[in-house]
Amino acid sequence: MRLRYHADAEVLRHHGIVRAVPADRDPYQLLDVPRDASSDQIKAAYRKKALENHPDRNPGDAAAEERFKRISEAYATLRDPEKRAWVDRGGAASGRPAPDFRTVDWQDVFREAEVHVRFPEGTPRTGNAVFDALFGAMTGMLRTQGVLPGEDRSVDLTIDLKTARVGGAATVRISGTAVCAVCRGTRLEEDGRPCPSCDGRGFRKGSQVEVAVPPKVRDGVTLRLRGLGGPGRPPGDALVRVRVQLPPGVRRVGDELHVDLPVTPLEGRDGTSTRVLGHEVRVPPGTADGSTLRIPGGGLAGGDLRATVKHRVWRGFGRRLRDMMRP
Ligand SMILES: [Zn+2]
Repeated sequence: MRLRYHADAEVLRHHGIVRAVPADRDPYQLLDVPRDASSDQIKAAYRKKALENHPDRNPGDAAAEERFKRISEAYATLRDPEKRAWVDRGGAASGRPAPDFRTVDWQDVFREAEVHVRFPEGTPRTGNAVFDALFGAMTGMLRTQGVLPGEDRSVDLTIDLKTARVGGAATVRISGTAVCAVCRGTRLEEDGRPCPSCDGRGFRKGSQVEVAVPPKVRDGVTLRLRGLGGPGRPPGDALVRVRVQLPPGVRRVGDELHVDLPVTPLEGRDGTSTRVLGHEVRVPPGTADGSTLRIPGGGLAGGDLRATVKHRVWRGFGRRLRDMMRP
């Protein structure tokens, strides 16, 4: 049995789908019905067992959850004439091509048997690759059909220092299937025609969202785009984690930015003024090597900018040259 699971896990790894009902799980035995049972008998047997083992009735009971999955799979197999015929001819042992579980409409399966399915904690996990994939696909299907709540989607966004300070627009691409950002899941354009971005489905892969980055944003902050995550009812949120790309030589300490400011020894003695990260900084006369100038609000999110004055002949000249060429 363990070996067969391994084999199935291999199939999953290569195809990402469930291809076959393992032959050792006879759906008739699982549902406790005779092999010539009518579809009504099968449905009644499934409904009874499904209600007994329902996740809502057995919270936290992994064994019941596993039984629920197995009997649901057995029922989904036997209610489909093509899949039932495959089982009757010997299933996987017959060597015939297996029915494809991607075509199972689980919402239909449960609705038909009047079994209400809701997994409040998301996809149940069992450690069994086949069933996890099967039910992962199922919950994905239920989500897109609005039966389950949608999942949040995380996305990273790197912005430059200027955008971090004054805000601005940035585009993020949400990976996986997410609510269409153009119609926001309404499926329609403003004039009532189907949304061309998602072909009127309300969700799509690789949805692009223009994010308004607020001014004075913190490095590592998460912006929540409500309702733009995975499809479902309610839809999930897109969580945009903002990273601030700092220019070379700039260090971040909390919300403060630290930078070295090279001046020539003469500038240190007589004083000068220059620009540091877009801020006008006055170096007073008699500023010693290693002293720190504080520029309030020159950091991130209202933090300070700290410039450590370094008396360096050549780097100081280099800085002064850049200052003189500045428009
Ligand atoms: Zn759309």
